[in-house]
Amino acid sequence: DALGAAGLALSLAHFAFPLAYYAYLKARWLGRPWGLRLDPGYRPRVTVVVPTYMERGLIEGKLENVYEQDYPRELLEVLVVDGASGDGTAEAAREWAGRHGDLRVEVVVEPARRGKAPALNEALRRARGEVVVVTDADSLWPRSALSEAVKWLSDERVAAVSCLKLPGGGTVPGVEEAYRGFYNTVRLAESKAWSTPVFHGELAAFKRGFLEEIGGFPTDVGADDSYTAVAAALAGLRAITPDGLACVEYVPGRGYAAWRTRRAQHLVQSFAKALRRLRGSRAPGRFKAVLLAEAYLHLVNPWLLLSAAALLAASAAAGMVLPAAALALGALLLLYKPYRAWVATQAFLVIAMVRNLWTKE
Ligand code: GDP
Ligand code: MN
Repeated sequence: DALGAAGLALSLAHFAFPLAYYAYLKARWLGRPWGLRLDPGYRPRVTVVVPTYMERGLIEGKLENVYEQDYPRELLEVLVVDGASGDGTAEAAREWAGRHGDLRVEVVVEPARRGKAPALNEALRRARGEVVVVTDADSLWPRSALSEAVKWLSDERVAAVSCLKLPGGGTVPGVEEAYRGFYNTVRLAESKAWSTPVFHGELAAFKRGFLEEIGGFPTDVGADDSYTAVAAALAGLRAITPDGLACVEYVPGRGYAAWRTRRAQHLVQSFAKALRRLRGSRAPGRFKAVLLAEAYLHLVNPWLLLSAAALLAASAAAGMVLPAAALALGALLLLYKPYRAWVATQAFLVIAMVRNLWTKE
């Protein structure tokens, strides 16, 4: 019947687009050279910014991890901007700094919790480094992370560098690791094409001059890191996640769904704003294509799956065999991890879009 046919067509379209986009990125960009001129001797002063809210359990390990970087310590400065945590985060950071006199650490305590982006802007006003690297407390870097990030920033067209992601922290739901391989490939290929519109809070490195030019981090979209990457591309600069730079994030065991929903809400906000700014921007055509594809994947494509499932279910309920079989197959495939991860992501995006209507968090 018509419902069943429409359902099948929608589900086909839902799965075909991302696969086609992935195939396009792989064939067209993944193996291409970067087209950058890197200067291995570039050694700028670097300001590492750690925004914290209630991170007493992680802050020392985080500072230790920055301390162990192979980047020259005398060129480093760390700014911990604490949102008035009541758990002793700032005190622990100060105490750690007292024990490590050979690393410049400044701990700034805000009068009240204001959110991450305002904290980053506070840090930006104080930062002296030519490069500003933002990193969440709940993440870890490999020893060479800073030197890697700086290396890519040595090209004048690169305004921003982020890392690929490895899940970590013990309590990794299977969903999380399954989708990383796919997404890391996409991020890398987009970066080679020009820029990726998705950055990671584990490590987001920017040239300070660029940040000042765009007026700092956006306070109207949750994904301050991703939207700032988009802003770089819109300004005609590059924002990349190079290979050989991966970070670990602790995936929360409890509150996983709420965490995924919040992340999805932030990305949705970022893409919505990016679309409004795309026209008249200085981004090259191939970035516009990437942005449109990603915006479609985040804002439109999830609804196709939801509609397809609803249509197939309605048709199956009316006694249609083929739609019922398709639905059963779709359910059976949930046993297959990457597929399950994909479907879960679509669900989080749909929930995020609906939730964005009343709270931006
Ligand atoms: P998620 O990874 O998106 O869930 O975000 P997190 O909760 O991990 O927050 C990212 C980073 O920002 C962490 O280091 C937090 O401690 C920090 N953070 C979150 N909210 C605030 C805030 O209101 N003020 C400050 N200063 N830092 C914050
Ligand atoms: Mn986090």
